[in-house]
Amino acid sequence: MQKFIFVTGGVLSGLGKGVVAASIGLLFKQQGYRVSLQKIDPYVNVDAGTMNPYEHGEVFVTHDGKETDLDVGRYERFVNVELSAAHYMTTGQVYWNVIRQERTGAFLGKTVQVIPHITDEIKTRIRKALEASQAEIGVVEIGGTVGDIESLPFLEAVRQMKDELPGEDTFFVHLTLLPHLSTSDEIKTKPTQHSVKELRGIGIQPDAIVARTELPLPASVKQKIALFCDVPKDNVIEDPDLPSSYHAPIKLHENGLTRCIALGLGLPVREPDLAEWTRRVGVMSSAQEKVRIGIVGKYVELKDSYISIRESLTHAAIAEGVDLAIEWISSEDIARAGADGLLARVDGLLIPGGFGDRGIEGKIQAARYAREKKIPCFGLCLGLQCMAIEYARNVLGLARANSHEFDLDTPDPVIALLEEQVRVVRKGGTMRLGAYEAALAPGTISRTSYGAPAVAERHRHRYEFNPAYRERFEKAGMKIAGTSPDGTLVEILELPSHPWFVGVQFHPEFTSRFLAPHPLFCSFVHACRSSGSPSSFSSS
Ligand code: GLN
Repeated sequence: MQKFIFVTGGVLSGLGKGVVAASIGLLFKQQGYRVSLQKIDPYVNVDAGTMNPYEHGEVFVTHDGKETDLDVGRYERFVNVELSAAHYMTTGQVYWNVIRQERTGAFLGKTVQVIPHITDEIKTRIRKALEASQAEIGVVEIGGTVGDIESLPFLEAVRQMKDELPGEDTFFVHLTLLPHLSTSDEIKTKPTQHSVKELRGIGIQPDAIVARTELPLPASVKQKIALFCDVPKDNVIEDPDLPSSYHAPIKLHENGLTRCIALGLGLPVREPDLAEWTRRVGVMSSAQEKVRIGIVGKYVELKDSYISIRESLTHAAIAEGVDLAIEWISSEDIARAGADGLLARVDGLLIPGGFGDRGIEGKIQAARYAREKKIPCFGLCLGLQCMAIEYARNVLGLARANSHEFDLDTPDPVIALLEEQVRVVRKGGTMRLGAYEAALAPGTISRTSYGAPAVAERHRHRYEFNPAYRERFEKAGMKIAGTSPDGTLVEILELPSHPWFVGVQFHPEFTSRFLAPHPLFCSFVHACRSSGSPSSFSSS
């Protein structure tokens, strides 16, 4: 069995297509189907690796080292599947491959055109994604909004698939917005009608409309959408505002989405097993004990830049049964005003990854504050590097210690370019990317948390802890808690004299899932609970 569910969006961007696609994936996986998910991003970049998190949110890294859109992370978190480069497609990749084939002479004598050559390439990649996961059902999200010039070849390709495959093998879900006019207290359907008209102009008739709405959807409005958009009334699915994205699968299921897709695909109508999911969502809204975690970053105005970290903390907080409060603290504010005032209220501190020197000194000050005040501190990638720089400066007495990324003239480059990076000049897809193994030292927090002697975690970096300083760090009390299997690269630093001070060169936030929280995040949140800050004991 090979069936495809295509998810498109209309009216405006940011309605939550990724959440709807991930929810559909979960609802079918929990019926026992093998499911794959794929994100199509119509922009011309080959991947998300060269894009600014300000514009596009976090860059999510797959186990095989593809730098993808944050929606791929959302799929993995929701559906608890491992996706790969095959599950992420951009215009850049499609054209790149077609042009490469043209140069080798694959189309000799032919005129290479968007239809059929580009659309054929798109269809091949959609099928390959399903096959890569040996899946029965492929959920394919087409990024952007219907009407965008960039998404036209993708919509044309999936239109062709609809015609080529048996009728019950494709299903089109279209997500729209129903604005509410407060002056007349009306829910308006016209933008939905227009976006469906646009979609039909391309040759795609949606099978279901998922309608984002602030207010409950009256039967009359549902009926109107059904009539004007030519879908059965039961296939107009209300998608209300919810306390969290994890409430969405439950709500969309209650509102009939699973049933209408199953019927459309000729599948039996079954109940997905949402028991554990629902239990965890319940913990989210009922937990009393508050844990405040400060994230010291440079993109704090744009929370999507750290979405996997936020979600990993959420998963761990649920596992610990606590109510998570994240304080977003700008590293530049710390550099300007000092750590004391800004960090006084937090039970734990997380220093995320990043690139470039903006805000670095604030992160280093934050690491010092956490170390000296014995507040749990979790450094991820650049976070580990800042912890090492801080330790070198203030414990080893190397006052000008730094990373070569920020200061090429530093006399003490405790963080230096990875050997393999020295000759790298091209920027796209050239970092140390994807899953690499780390061997864990006995008796460390990491080893205890993972409960295993080795672990594979995802990476995205060019710099590393400089091995020339290893001995001096160890003599001064810093523990090398994890290394590459050959012992050469430092993967984890821990401070045994501190309750919880762990820096990792990798990104554990990319492998935490709603139903399977990450052990290091759980250990961190657990340590924050007992960190002794007065805020741990109050729920208000
Ligand atoms: N900029 C640092 C490096 O390239 C850290 C990267 C990161 O935090 N992802 O090594």
